[in-house]
Amino acid sequence: MSEIEDSNDENTVREEEAVENDEFEPVQVFPESEEMDLRPGSDDCYKCSTCDTNCPVAQVDDEFPGPKFQGPEQWRLKRKEDHDIDDSVMSCSNCMRCDDACPSDVPLSQMHNTARGEYVESQMEKLSQEYIRNRILANYRTMAELGSKVPRLTNFVMGLGVTKLFNEKVLGITSEREFPDFAEETFREWWSDRGGPKVRSEDKRVAYFHGCYSNYNTPKVGKAMVRVFESFGYEVVVPKQRCSGTPMFANGMLEDAKRAAGINVENFSGLIEEGYDVIASCTSCSMSLRQEYPELFSFDGTASVAAHTYEALEYLRLHEDLEAALEAGEVEAGNFAYHAPCHARNQGLAGQPVELFESLDGATAEDVGPSCSGISGTYGWKEEKYDASMQIGAEMFDHMEEAEGEVGMTECPTCAMQMEHGTGYEIRHPLEVLEAALVE
Ligand code: SF4
Ligand code: SF4
Repeated sequence: MSEIEDSNDENTVREEEAVENDEFEPVQVFPESEEMDLRPGSDDCYKCSTCDTNCPVAQVDDEFPGPKFQGPEQWRLKRKEDHDIDDSVMSCSNCMRCDDACPSDVPLSQMHNTARGEYVESQMEKLSQEYIRNRILANYRTMAELGSKVPRLTNFVMGLGVTKLFNEKVLGITSEREFPDFAEETFREWWSDRGGPKVRSEDKRVAYFHGCYSNYNTPKVGKAMVRVFESFGYEVVVPKQRCSGTPMFANGMLEDAKRAAGINVENFSGLIEEGYDVIASCTSCSMSLRQEYPELFSFDGTASVAAHTYEALEYLRLHEDLEAALEAGEVEAGNFAYHAPCHARNQGLAGQPVELFESLDGATAEDVGPSCSGISGTYGWKEEKYDASMQIGAEMFDHMEEAEGEVGMTECPTCAMQMEHGTGYEIRHPLEVLEAALVE
């Protein structure tokens, strides 16, 4: 049996064990928080308010006190033993723009995630509509796993007016948005039918973190990722995996995030020891594995996974002469209005397609500016946040309409939802264009 089959079998065992343990082994996140004492980080804040001026939520929501309060000030207040977390922490969308903007490297998102987790754990009413709705949104993978068993029926039911009304009135999920369709064949089903990797290599090996959306909703992105990497001679493996945790962090569901992260770290760190790097096609997934896991968790292998995780285009640009390959290629793709997701900016990855497609005949990507799309994963799906989400996105919608192309492009699936919702444009992932240009 090959190493890959061995590791896939091991992963299956790990996943089965995890499924058996699905009865929520309680995870004590905050009793361990002495190890995660962020008060010293708050002392690095010199109150310049750069984070506040870069916060898209603070710009449209007068009741949101901004990242400086949510981070350093909240942690300073925690010096007083009986201080409660302010409930406004639930209005932070977890876009991480403040993290990127702070000139003093204050660990703002770590502070926000930790404070939000503590608020949900110890202060939020567990039978409230807000908790139940947030738990459902945070665990999209669970809903998607069920829905994709009968995709046509699910898509039909989710599109019904009565379903949207129920979701809004009972759960607090906005009826303004169209629920994304489930694919008739998931990425993992395609991968299994295909028989796994078509290329074997001892020294060019990547393990694909497809995340939930590429698996259940847009498998074409995952297929493009596999075909593009195989065209460069990479062996691609697809280990069992859970949600990256991004929507869980944003909703303060740290116990859920910790369970998912534990499985992901175990499954991917084993492959890293066999020479694989971890590749994600979603910039929020790569962000989560690289930054949030080591900030919040300390499983064996967490640091290794963080150090070996890359976004797909980033990895190819580091290891291959992608520009030269594109110069030899040609597509009839036209002009794209490109939005760089906030989480891509936070990894220093804004604008990769704009630079790359300069080398490609038949495609250009025009950057529509640095503004936030406004949806931030689950934030824009909340009924009470929908208007703020659209206000934040207005600048991006205007710039998309001013751009030459009438097809959008981004690496983030929820930014893509917002771009489509605000402009009516079709939205593509850059990997789809790479596939058209590079794969026979
Ligand atoms: S940007 Fe950094 S240093 Fe400035 S107020 Fe915000 S946390 Fe403090
Ligand atoms: S993560 Fe985004 S929404 Fe939250 S405080 Fe920072 S800038 Fe504002």
